[in-house]
Order: sequence, then structure tokens, then C-alpha cells
Amino acid sequence: MNPAPKTRTPVASPYAMSATLAWAMSVNAAALAQGKPLSLCQAADALEVGVLRPDAVRILRVPKLSQPDCPHFRSMATQSGLDLGGSAGMALGYAVLICHSALGDRRVLRHELRHVAQFEQSGDLSRFLDLYLAQIVEHGYRDAPLEVDAHRYEGRLANVCIDSPSSL
Ligand SMILES: [Zn+2]
Repeated sequence: MNPAPKTRTPVASPYAMSATLAWAMSVNAAALAQGKPLSLCQAADALEVGVLRPDAVRILRVPKLSQPDCPHFRSMATQSGLDLGGSAGMALGYAVLICHSALGDRRVLRHELRHVAQFEQSGDLSRFLDLYLAQIVEHGYRDAPLEVDAHRYEGRLANVCIDSPSSL
């Protein structure tokens, strides 16, 4: 039996999609160029949450996360509850951006590293963003399956790991 047709199509607007992709590619490139590789402990966490290539990850510390300068994106974000300006971290491909306020917060980093693993599974940044945005439009930010999955990995601190403070 076919499922009942949905009343709305859970697809992000193509304008929001293209603006988001262009912004994501430029943030990704800048963060990969300027960011730091993972410390040994961070790389262990990356492996534990499913990242295949921890060596490819770069972490960039930022005062605040940026977001696409596009009204379509803003309206989609508002409707779905996505608040990049108020978020502690963000992962775009192998680029992980962490706000100064969340530096050293292992749960935040593990959450973002899980998004890196999801990106690896999806094949490329464009496909990951397509899926991610479609999910937040359909389910809302908090209930999007990719977010629920990332939350699940935040607190599974199986390994004890202490880096030197300078690496956090
Ligand atoms: Zn997330």
C-alpha cells in the first residue's frame, strides 16, 4: 500500500540550497586552509564517532558562526529552528568551526565530528547539505535525523583523553 501523500514537499527552496552551497564551499575552503589538525585525543574521538579520515579534519576557532547572506536561507532557518548565530559549532565537510565560547568542550566537538562522519557517508558536501537541509525543513532542526544522530554521539565518552591545554 502506498503511504498517504504528504501535504507539503520536504525540500528546501532551490534558492536557499544554492546560496547555502556557495557559502558552505567558501567557508569550507577558508577553514581547511587556516584550521588546525586534530590533536591525538581529538583524532581518537573522531574515529570513535565514525570519521574515516581524522587526518583530513581541520578545526578553526571563530568568535561566532557565520551564515549564508540570503533571505531564502534565513526564512528556512527561522522556520526550522536552525540558529547558526547561536550555535557553538558547525561542520562543513572536513572543516569544523568551533566558537571561542565552546573551545575545549568535548561534547560540542564530538557532535561536529559526527557531522563529519555523516558527510563522509553521503559522499560530498553538496549531497550532505541537500540531505541536511531537506531534513530540517521536514522535521525541524532538533528532530532532523542527522541532528538526532549527532546528539547521540556527544556524550559517549568511552576513552579517557587529556590533551595539553594548548591543543584544545
Ligand atoms: Zn548538529
